[in-house]
Amino acid sequence: MCGIVGYIGDKRAIDFLLDGLTKLEYRGYDSAGVAVNCGDNIFVEKAVGRLSSLKEKLKNNLPVGTVGIGHTRWATHGRPSDLNAHPHSDCHKNFFVVHNGIIENYLQLKEDLIAKGHKFISETDTEVVAHLVEESYHGDFVLAVRDVLSKIEGSYSLLFMSKFHPDTLIAAKQDNPLVVGIGKGENFIASDIPAIISFTRQTYILNDGDIAVVQKNSVNFINRQGLPIEKKIFHVKWNAAAAEKGGYEHFMLKEINEQPKAVRDTISPHLNGKVTFNELNWNEDFLNNINKIYIVACGTAYHAGLVGKFYIEKLVRKLVEVDLASEFRYRNPIVDDKTLVIVISQSGETLDTLAALKEAKKLGAKTLAVTNVVGSSIAREAEFVINTAAGPEIAVASTKAYTTQLILMFMLALYMAQISKSIPAAEIERLIKLLKKIPAQISETLSDVEPIKTFAQMYGFNDDVFYIGRSLDYCVALEGALKLKEISYIHAEAYASGELKHGTLALIVEGVPVIALATQKSVYEKTLSNIKEVKARDAIVIGIAAAGDSELEKYLDHVIFVPDTDELLIPLLAVVPLQLLAYYAAITRGCDVDKPRNLAKSVTVE
Ligand code: GLU
Repeated sequence: MCGIVGYIGDKRAIDFLLDGLTKLEYRGYDSAGVAVNCGDNIFVEKAVGRLSSLKEKLKNNLPVGTVGIGHTRWATHGRPSDLNAHPHSDCHKNFFVVHNGIIENYLQLKEDLIAKGHKFISETDTEVVAHLVEESYHGDFVLAVRDVLSKIEGSYSLLFMSKFHPDTLIAAKQDNPLVVGIGKGENFIASDIPAIISFTRQTYILNDGDIAVVQKNSVNFINRQGLPIEKKIFHVKWNAAAAEKGGYEHFMLKEINEQPKAVRDTISPHLNGKVTFNELNWNEDFLNNINKIYIVACGTAYHAGLVGKFYIEKLVRKLVEVDLASEFRYRNPIVDDKTLVIVISQSGETLDTLAALKEAKKLGAKTLAVTNVVGSSIAREAEFVINTAAGPEIAVASTKAYTTQLILMFMLALYMAQISKSIPAAEIERLIKLLKKIPAQISETLSDVEPIKTFAQMYGFNDDVFYIGRSLDYCVALEGALKLKEISYIHAEAYASGELKHGTLALIVEGVPVIALATQKSVYEKTLSNIKEVKARDAIVIGIAAAGDSELEKYLDHVIFVPDTDELLIPLLAVVPLQLLAYYAAITRGCDVDKPRNLAKSVTVE
């Protein structure tokens, strides 16, 4: 995620650009830049870091041009730096572009362009787009952009400006958001409504495939074939605070609903018939030299690590230990050059995880970081890095970071299995087919929240809630309980179902709510017996089961069904009702969902 803004009119463009970028700050960023058409030259300024760094650079040198584009970057390709910041341009600085998303086929395109003599100055995927326009331009700006769109693959919202066409900005959308704000003798373009709401409430919301040709007195829409499209004006009624949350009441709910896209964006750069990780480039020798894997993390990322252990052990048949970063670093862990240490951290700044990573490096381990922030401290420290594409996560309670960590760990395990041939190729193919369906299945899971809301209202005032499950269901139970604790302050405990009779069953009495996960087919019968045990103590049991399970309903009053898939992938679906349950329980109790007491988003202290 990132922010795009554009202005065309009679006023000084920079004023709207900086104001709009400031309003998009909540989307997160690591660098920012603007390009303003000043007649004979295009003024460009970029700065790594906070928006205030860009403002500082511009302080005594504000461009006066009335057409311009701006960007706050959330790096996916190339670390945050002045050079990698957008806008990007072609060799002759005639075309400028800002981009939100990922150009998946950029490597191939870049090679072709270099062969034709183009010179690249950044490490981004975006820069190919500017050079492609230069290649395709023969006097018609719109035609050139259409030609470029037919060549690029991936997700994007793009905004183009050209020195040759000072009266026109062109915007295009595929999978990432873009709106046009309609003014009088001026028009605005932005990633999101908050950027334009104080200038106009009349907007056009772009759909995938739309191209907007924006001039100061007109906005025309065409499709990829160049045919005109009629669009309806959308009048924005939200206030500025609601607009930031896309109309949702809280960032957490917005982020829960963003999971299908976040997971899709995390999958797509790594699927090319088989699973690919260009950034790893591992081979059989490399894997043969690893005899033990540690996954080290904190909080929700630790729970993702527990699931990762199942993935790697089952698909790659290598021993995996999962450890809390705050424990690992003080235990003199048994790590050497045959150990791979995988650290997981959404922010890439978690202090304990960073310290654990440094400790592992000191002991000679190979290190791999899984983070959501390109160029973060952990990403810089590790030997190898792979990124989730969740976009910035604002709510303290992690949701989309967790599901994207899960899918990336699953793909990592498949990638290792491909190299080491630890499972048959046909099984890998079957799992890839199923993993492609996950984003749509998460959407399906999100489509019926009413029963979950009702349960949350019914049990939101209980003092204790128990979560039980076996195998991967236990890992998801831990994450479900953590969500409830974090935001609703209800005492929630997760137990491996088989452990119940070793103590916990003493706590199960009449009326105690128990959330029972029963999605794992390989341990289904055992799970069912445990559910009967708690039911026999008159607990109120809510089951989470895979669609098609007709057994559980015979014993339980309430069952929430999630779509069926392989039992390795079902945690990505089973966690969604648990996130929603925690969210609605917190709402029922009047808690501050996005900023729970005593907690911070990124834990950069011990
Ligand atoms: N993929 C682009 C980059 O890394 C754009 C990222 C964004 O959406 O900010 O520069």
